[in-house]
Amino acid sequence: MLPRKVNETAEWKRDSGEFSVITVPAVIISIETFSRIKKDAEKILGTEGSAVLLYEAGKDAGKTWISRFREEWRLEDAESEFIKATEEFYTELGWGKFSIDIENLTIRIENSFIARGYVKGESKKTVCHFLCGYNSSLISELINKEVDVEERNCMAKGDQYCDFIVVK
Ligand SMILES: [Zn+2]
Repeated sequence: MLPRKVNETAEWKRDSGEFSVITVPAVIISIETFSRIKKDAEKILGTEGSAVLLYEAGKDAGKTWISRFREEWRLEDAESEFIKATEEFYTELGWGKFSIDIENLTIRIENSFIARGYVKGESKKTVCHFLCGYNSSLISELINKEVDVEERNCMAKGDQYCDFIVVK
């Protein structure tokens, strides 16, 4: 069975210069670099264009991973345990502290890694489009229905948390 803890699944192949997490080839990227790429993408594609790009990228990434976790962690029939394992996994990855409220179809993230690339209150709008897309796949997997999610509050615009809610 696939381990659930990030540190149990991280693997270094020093001879070939490769790194992986949960068997997936990966790199570690700083928040500053991610933020820089995001802000430059906004200059080139416009705020809206860049938001769509990152939302779709997050959605795709989420789709690929979440269903795989459910299977490989063998938690198909253990919803609350799956939710807890998922929250812990992304929290450990450094994506922020995840709280999933499946009854209200909301996800709260404290210290989102995207919002941390901004000074609190720097942005007038929500900025966590990648996580928003990712969360749409996460909730879609949990309720077994395709949904979209929007971000209501965002630390980058001065809120205490980033809050994501299913769009009805
Ligand atoms: Zn946010």
